[in-house]
Order: sequence, then structure tokens, then C-alpha cells
Amino acid sequence: MEESRNFIEEIIDSDLASGKVTTVATRFPPEPNGYLHIGHAKSLCINFGIAQKYNGTCNLRFDDTNPCKEDQEYVNSIKADIEWLGFKWDNLYFASDYFDVMFDCAVKLINKGLAYVSDETADEIRERRGTLTEPGIESPYRNRSVEENLKLFYEMRDGKYADGAKVLRAKIDMSSPNVNMRDPIIYRVLHATHHNTGDKWCIYPMYDFAHPIEDAHEGITHSICTLEFEDHRPLYDWVVKNCDFPEPLPQQIEFARLNITNTIMSKRYLKKLVDEGKVLGWDDPRMPTLSGLRRRGIPAEALKDFCERIGVSKANSEVEEGYLYSCVRDNLNQNTDRVLAVFDPLKVVLTNYDGSEELAVENNPNAENVTCRNVPFSRELYIDRSDFALVPPPKYYRLKPDGYVRLKGAYIIHCDEALTDSEGNVTELHCSVVPNSKSGNDESGIKVKGVIQWVDAATCVDVTVRKLQSLLTDPVDGITDFNQRFNEDSMKLVSAKVEPSLKNAKVGDKFQFMRVGYYVLDRDSKDGQLVFNEIVGLKDGFKAGK
Ligand code: ATP
Ligand code: MG
Repeated sequence: MEESRNFIEEIIDSDLASGKVTTVATRFPPEPNGYLHIGHAKSLCINFGIAQKYNGTCNLRFDDTNPCKEDQEYVNSIKADIEWLGFKWDNLYFASDYFDVMFDCAVKLINKGLAYVSDETADEIRERRGTLTEPGIESPYRNRSVEENLKLFYEMRDGKYADGAKVLRAKIDMSSPNVNMRDPIIYRVLHATHHNTGDKWCIYPMYDFAHPIEDAHEGITHSICTLEFEDHRPLYDWVVKNCDFPEPLPQQIEFARLNITNTIMSKRYLKKLVDEGKVLGWDDPRMPTLSGLRRRGIPAEALKDFCERIGVSKANSEVEEGYLYSCVRDNLNQNTDRVLAVFDPLKVVLTNYDGSEELAVENNPNAENVTCRNVPFSRELYIDRSDFALVPPPKYYRLKPDGYVRLKGAYIIHCDEALTDSEGNVTELHCSVVPNSKSGNDESGIKVKGVIQWVDAATCVDVTVRKLQSLLTDPVDGITDFNQRFNEDSMKLVSAKVEPSLKNAKVGDKFQFMRVGYYVLDRDSKDGQLVFNEIVGLKDGFKAGK
């Protein structure tokens, strides 16, 4: 069996073939400064997918080396989201547990003459860094002795210096064509309490120094990250090599981050929306966070299917949001029960029908074993106003004066009379049930092309439905600023009448409202007042796979 391989898997295959590695170890390293979003799902699928494919391991590592922004709420939500996607980490680590290891690595570099303490300000360091075309200028502190550097670095650790007064820089090459290699800062003084280590440290490692050490310390073989880090790879390699980690050294591989049209893929901006109360919270069903997508009713499987189908690439691009929705539709079409709901009710009186009955209506025609539920039926019903036309266009197969239509799972009805108000608006239909036309047992001999949804007026339930759109409007005239593209109409509340079986639905249950779309019961449902989120409409112009 020949499976297709993406470029990361090709690298891994050749590393295994050459004997460079014998097992494969990946990690997913979120910074706990927000909730995971759909971009992270892509990274999760790659990292956990590789571990599964190669019978290797994948760690969950909270990259919490920055003391200021982290929060336990984020740690909890990240774990819950990964579990929801169905991934199991082999080990759970916090990068802050390695602060001692990182400190020792820094001391090692100083001892090797590969790091020095500098008294320059952040501005001075930036100014002397040079540009893409000009080399940088060497720091006046670059040639401090090992002894002096050790003494100063210990003093930094012991709290002798104020924030920003001193930094530790790697001593690499101020004229390197790669500005990341021009003596980057690897430790800074920061008197801040850390959520894990408390006040133990007042110096903290920089990301470019910490991350390779975390990887190497855990024995990660392939450290997969997004393209912005490509220029940081020489520094990554420099750190793991000079800190004397054992072979095989971890190898950084970059892929293109996931971008989706009209979708905010930045924790910082998503947090802003939450903080400013523009959305209901991190799990607002419009949010592209995993918790938002979950609350919106998007199945984890559909999300993974989407990540699989878009593939892994080395070139940045933007995926149409419609492509996600087509994956979601494919999944829900297979897996949801159909129910009857009417958004714009038009009363129908069945003038030749008395009493009431329970009709067995099919749940999911795509299920392995198709089951039915009972739906009450009686003399007064509602159909959707859009399913009746007083003056029908040609080839109109729904209800029209003196026309026939089938009520889903029930009978064929004939429209005898349309009542109108003084302005000519239709207010009510008088119809008759065609004898012997019951679904599944139709001996009426009447052929009808249209099948429409309906609800029983006596027993239907009024519910609230949230119609959802992207949080961003389409970019116009080159305006890409999220603040100017915020879609004020992204959530509209409408009412609907639904069949009474939905009173038994549980939060998170998903349905196809027949002929309309897919909906999920939201946790804001209270005291018998049901609230549904629209997951996705039934149809879209977008063609999957094209
Ligand atoms: P943000 O910019 O939204 O804060 P981040 O990259 O800072 O995202 P991290 O918590 O550092 O978020 O990311 C954890 C992992 O998820 C990283 O390996 C990162 O490369 C990956 N990741 C983040 N965003 C995307 C994306 N849009 N597509 C693919 N992978 C992503
Ligand atoms: Mg980040």
C-alpha cells in the first residue's frame, strides 16, 4: 500500500532510512496566552498525525517561559480542546520546569566564551544590529572575560539588577547575513512572578534560546513550526549544538501556517474581541477558536478532515472559508438526524382532516440502520411561507393554488384556497388531504415532485435560532485591518417553530432542519426556551475538491 507523503514525512522517511533517527518524537508547544484556534488544529493534526503514522510520540508542552501573559484558564482550555479533537499526548510538560536546564545551558555557553553579559539598552542593541544590507556593530561588552560574565550573570539571577539593566547575549557573528545571528539576546532581567515558578526567577530566557533547549531536552526529533521561524533555524541549530545535547539533535522544519478567508487567526486579536465584549466569550459560536467551533456544532472529525484535505505546504496561501464548510456539510449530512422546522410560518388548515395521529418519520436516511421517530400531525399545520406561491413561476414544484405537494413523512395535500388580507398578503391556506396518500403507503396515484417540511400547530415548539456569519466582512479596497472589518451583523436572532421531539434534545446535539441547514442546541437554552446555533446552511455555491 503506497500512502502519499507530504514534504515533512519525506524528510522523516529519509531520516529513518539514513539511520539519523530510529524513532520519531514531535511536540505541540502552545503558549498558554489564549484559546486554541483553527490554525492550531492544523499544527495539532500534523504533530499528532506524524506520531501516529510513525508509531512515535507527541508531547504537549506549554511554552510558558514568558511570565506575564499566562493563565490557568488557558492551560485548561487547551487540554480540553486537544482531547476534543481526539488526540492523546504522550507526556505533558511545562517549559518553565526547565528553567534550571536553560540556566545551566547559558552558563555553559559563557564558559565556552559563547555568551556575554551586556549593559546596552534594548534601543542600543537594536541600533547596533545593522540591517539586511549592513553588518552590525560589535557590542562594547563583547569581550568581557568568562569570569566577569559568570559573575554578572549570577548577579542578574540573584536580583542585583533592574529590568532591562543587563542582558545575556549569544556571541555569534555581528556581520552574519542573518540578523538573528547577530549576537541575539538569550536572557533578560524581568522581575515578574511566574504562574509556575513564582518568584524563584527574575531572569527569563528568550524564546529563540528556550525553544530549542526544550525540544532537545525532551528528545524531540522533528520540531515542526510555521514559516516565520525559517530565519531562526540557524540560531536553533547553533543553540542545540553548542549546549552539547546528545545526538540526534532536534531538527526544525517549517510549514505554511493555515490562513482562512475572513477568519481571525491571531490569539491577540481574538482576546481583544473577548475583552471588549464584542463576542459572548472565547467560545462564542462565531469564534474560530476550537471551543467556538465546538459550540457552533462543528464536529471534530470534520475539522480533522479539513486539515487533511488542505494538506501541508511550504508556501503561504489562504483557504476559502467555504471549503471548511463543505467538509462540515459532508460530515453532518452523514451523521445528523433530520427534523422538521419552519422559520417563516404560514398556517395551513386541512379542511377534510379531523383528530390527530403520530406519524413515523425517518431520522437519517444515510444512517446504517435507518430509524424513525413519531411526529404529531393534526388539522392545523405550519409550512414555510417560501414554499407557497400565489403566482408561481414556471416549474414551481411546491404549493400553489389548486396544486399538490407532499408534506414530508405525511400526506399529499391539495391547496383549495389561499386567504389574503386587504393588501393581498397570504394569511392562511385551506387545503385538503389526498386520500390514501400517506408516505410509505401511497396509493393515491397522484405524482408530486415537491416535498416540503411542516410542523403541527398544536404541538410545535417556538425556539430561537442564531444565524451566524463570519466575524469579518470581506476585505474591500485593500482594507485588511480587522478593526475596520468587524462584521456587526455576524449574529442575528430569528425565531422558528420546530417539531416537539426537539424538546428532548441535549446541549450539543446536532440536527439537519430539513431543507434549511444544520443546527446545534446551544447551552444558553434555559427553562424550556431552546436556542440553536446555525452550523452551516444546507447548500453553498462552493464545490468541494474543485
Ligand atoms: P497566535 O499568533 O495566534 O498567538 P502562536 O503561533 O503564537 O499563534 P502558539 O501558542 O505559539 O501560537 O502556537 C502553538 C503552535 O501552533 C505553534 O507550533 C505554531 O506554529 C502553531 N500555529 C499557530 N498558528 C497556526 C496557524 N495559523 N497554522 C498552523 N499552525 C499554527
Ligand atoms: Mg506565539
